[in-house]
Formats: sequence, C-alpha cells, structure tokens
Amino acid sequence: APASLEFKIKSTLIHHGVCSFKDSPTVKLFIDGKFVESKTSEWLDVHNPATNEVIARVPKATQEEMVAAVDCCSKAFQTWSETSILARQQVFLRYQQLIKDNIKELAKSITVEQGKTLADAEGDVFRGLQVVEHACSVTSLMLGETLPSITKDMDTYTYRLPVGVCAGIAPFNFPAMIPLWMFPMGMVCGNTYLLKPSERVPSCTMLLAKMLQDAGAPDGTLNIIHGQHNAVNFICDHPAIRAISFVGSNQAGEYIYERGSKNGKRVQSNMGAKNHGVVMPDANKENTLNQLVGAAFGAAGQRCMALSTAILVGEARSWLPELVERSKALRVNAGDQPAKARVCSLIQSGVDEGAQVLLDGRNVKVKGYENGNFVGPTIIGNVTPEMKCYTEEIFGPVLVVLEAENLDDAINLVNRNPYGNGTAIFTTNGATARKYTHEVDVGQVGVNVPIPVPLPMFSFTGSRGSFRGDMNFYGKQGIQFYTQIKTVTSQWKAEDATLKSPAVTMPT
Ligand code: NAD
Repeated sequence: APASLEFKIKSTLIHHGVCSFKDSPTVKLFIDGKFVESKTSEWLDVHNPATNEVIARVPKATQEEMVAAVDCCSKAFQTWSETSILARQQVFLRYQQLIKDNIKELAKSITVEQGKTLADAEGDVFRGLQVVEHACSVTSLMLGETLPSITKDMDTYTYRLPVGVCAGIAPFNFPAMIPLWMFPMGMVCGNTYLLKPSERVPSCTMLLAKMLQDAGAPDGTLNIIHGQHNAVNFICDHPAIRAISFVGSNQAGEYIYERGSKNGKRVQSNMGAKNHGVVMPDANKENTLNQLVGAAFGAAGQRCMALSTAILVGEARSWLPELVERSKALRVNAGDQPAKARVCSLIQSGVDEGAQVLLDGRNVKVKGYENGNFVGPTIIGNVTPEMKCYTEEIFGPVLVVLEAENLDDAINLVNRNPYGNGTAIFTTNGATARKYTHEVDVGQVGVNVPIPVPLPMFSFTGSRGSFRGDMNFYGKQGIQFYTQIKTVTSQWKAEDATLKSPAVTMPT
C-alpha cells in the first residue's frame, strides 16, 4: 500500500469519527451508537505490512468497557427483537446500498492494514456484501412451520425467534467479508451483536459499523470492542452472550469452542485448512495450471480456501516444471510480518526433511518497499505426508506438491488429512469427478473450480478439523444458528366439546 493511500485512509477514518489522531490514529470502540476513545492503558500497534510502519493503535478494551458493551446489547435486544421483521430488513436493504456505494473506500482500508491488492480487497468487500444482500431475504428464511388438526381442534405451529445477544470474533485475512458473515445475519434475525474484529485489521470493521449506523441500525444493536485474549475470554464467559461465531486458526477456534460450549453457549467455529487440488492427467492442462497458480498464490495464499496442496496424479506428474514456470511469472506485492517468519520456517522444515524447493520466494525484494514483509511464490516438490510443511497450515504463498499413482491414492491422501475445508479436482471425465465428489470427505468440493466458496444462499460447509459446531455460517444454516424455535400447540374447542372430567392419561 503506497504512502499516499495510507494517508488517504487515515484521513477517511478520522473524517468518519471512527479513529482519532494523536501520533498515529487510535481506533475507537463502538458502544451504544457512539465511537468512543478507550480509557485503557494497553494499546496494540497496527502495521502496514508493505512498509512495516505503525499506522494506527488499537486499544485492549477495559473490563468496564466490555461490560458496558454487552449491557448495551442486552438493553437494545428488548426493542430490536420486537421490531418488525420488515423494519429490520429495511435497515439491511439500505446497508447493502451503502456498502456498494463505498466499496472502494472500504477496500483501501483493507489494503493498508492487511496488505492484499486493491482489486482483491474489493473482492473481499463484495463477497461480504452478498451475505448482506442475502440477509435481506430474511422474511422467507425465518418462516416457521405449521401442522393443523394434529387432533380434534388442535394445531401445532412454530416460531423462529432470535436467541439474544450474539458475539463474533474475526480473523485478519478477510477484514470485510468475515465480519459481514456475522453481524448482518445475526442482527436481521432480531439479535443484537458484540463484535471483536482482528486486532491486526480493525479499521474496515469500524467503517462498516459507521455505515450500519447510517443505514438506521438503532443505538446499541451493534457494539464493537477491541483486544486479544482477555476480550475473547470475556466473550466466552459473559452469561448474557448466547451464541459465538468464530473464524480463525485451530488454536484459537478449538479453545473458544470448548470454553464457550462449557458455558452453555452455541458456538460455530470455522478454522484452518489444508486444501488439496487433485490434478488428473485428462484435465485441461492450460486451464488447470492457471487455476492452480491463481488459487495457491492469490492473496499471498492467505485465504482459508487457498489451494495450498497439489496432488499430481499419474501422467500429470510431468506438469510440475510448467507449474513452476507459470508461478515465476507472478508479481509480488503483499505480505505481513508474523506470517513471514512462520512461512519461511515451514519452507525450511521441508528442506530439512528432504523435500525440494523448486521455486523459492523467501528472499524476494520489492523495489520501494525494502522494509516490507514479502514472500514470493514458492513451490515445494517431493513432499511426503509426514513432513511438517504438509501437516501444518502454512497460510502463505507456498504450494506443496505431492504425487499419486491414481485417483484412489489421491482420495486416500486427502481423506487422511485432518482438515476438511475445501478441495478441488481438475478433470474432463465426468465419472472421475463424480467418484471424487462422492468419496472425498471434505465439506466444500470444486470440480474444475479451484476455490469453491459457496454463495450465501448455500452455507460455508467446511468439515472435520476445519469446523466445530453444528450449524455453519450463512445461508439456511446461518439463520438456524442465530435463531431458536418456539413450538406452540393450541386447542380451540367449540363450547359443547368441553371436557367433563380431568384427563389423567398421556394423550395419544
Ligand atoms: P487467529 O486465530 O490468530 O485470530 C482470529 C481471532 O482470534 C482474532 O480476533 C484474535 O484476536 C483471536 N485469537 C488469536 N489467538 C487467540 C488465542 N490463542 N486465544 C484466543 N483468541 C485468539 O487467526 P488469524 O491469523 O487472524 O486468521 C488466519 C486463520 O484463520 C487461518 O488458520 C485460516 O485458515 C483461518 N480462516 C478460516 C476461515 C474459514 O472459514 N474456515 C476463514 C478465514 C480464515
């Protein structure tokens, strides 16, 4: 992100009142409809990963501030849950238009803090916007069920109702899309929402909160706190919070799932991944290699659905040199510091364990950004399943390549891996594709589609080690997560059918 862009986004944040300016902007909390400066003495630096400069400071909210935020959620729930569903829908109809109108501004705030390119940042906002659009069809999604005449004069019907105060804990890699998976779905169902964005990329969420307020969300319906472990523990423990949505690493997600569940909360936890692309020798070579390179290295591999592992099957094993050549041609323009150290050490672990680095991006230099944290496209060949570079999520621009004799071997390999977020098969044979989609134990499968993230009318259905919980994010499952069912059984008898004596046996 160039310095001019950084200056522009600082001005935007201050202009909207979501940051104030001292040495560097300080990000505010959003409590009861006001953007307020935290009284904390503990602050975290937010870096521009391309320059390593500190561009803002984010507070670790104090206990009093976090309690105040939840109290506002509880109070607002009383009126918001009783607000007509059509009025709630109207807020989100206005909201989707505001996001559309400001997509470029939101994207800039992402590029400056997260490091992805502007075009990719617009995609980040756009995929979140689609969830907001989907939330606008809540009226049909929240319909209950009815069964008339279950016995004489008796009917049963269900209401789908909000659960109460919900909370979201977001990761750094999609500063717009993932918060937008959370609070719009939760709020349109009638819940109020406490959000903790990633402390590494808070600004985009603050702009999104301002736009939601401008769209007419009443004060206190969305509150935002910042922080790290303390804030997370607070969310897991506070008795008023009924449901937690988490997206991030396995380390944090498993912990939050366990702590939140122990406290009686619903938790949906979307976690890490190791997504395999299986390349069959009958695949369209040109198309497959381009898709593989794009899906492995786009957004510096920092997408939970990035294709980070390729399995070349049979004759497709000979395509490796061409895969390396195409990857070499990519231009490097993003990175971030803690990620760089982790990525480089996992590449080295591959070398130490006997793998072969066919393309090495560790020492890449980007002119004008000598202090940036860049890693170029890297391909590791001769990888075997027990190597650390295969067993651990790298979450960087690194493609790990394994080989398989045939489709059965490839399926076994994928199913033995503990993660189940996404996978893709590249083939021109329908029967091969059908066998793969049927037998592979992964929640989201692409056939000649490298990153098969479902649109919001479906749900994000990562499985096995990539997910904990029962109900997935967005779509029908998202609505289920943010609602509970009340079942009413009612009897209206005509006068002359009045019971003459008490019925003491179980009705059958
Ligand atoms: P992260 O787990 O470090 O952070 C996510 C959130 O959890 C942040 O708000 C952070 O403050 C908090 N957190 C971090 N460590 C914690 C801990 N030890 N205890 C309690 N809370 C903690 O994740 P990240 O680095 O921001 O994001 C990258 C990860 O997210 C990758 O593993 C990626 O695969 C995953 N991801 C998954 C999906 C999905 O839908 N499955 C989508 C995006 C990202």
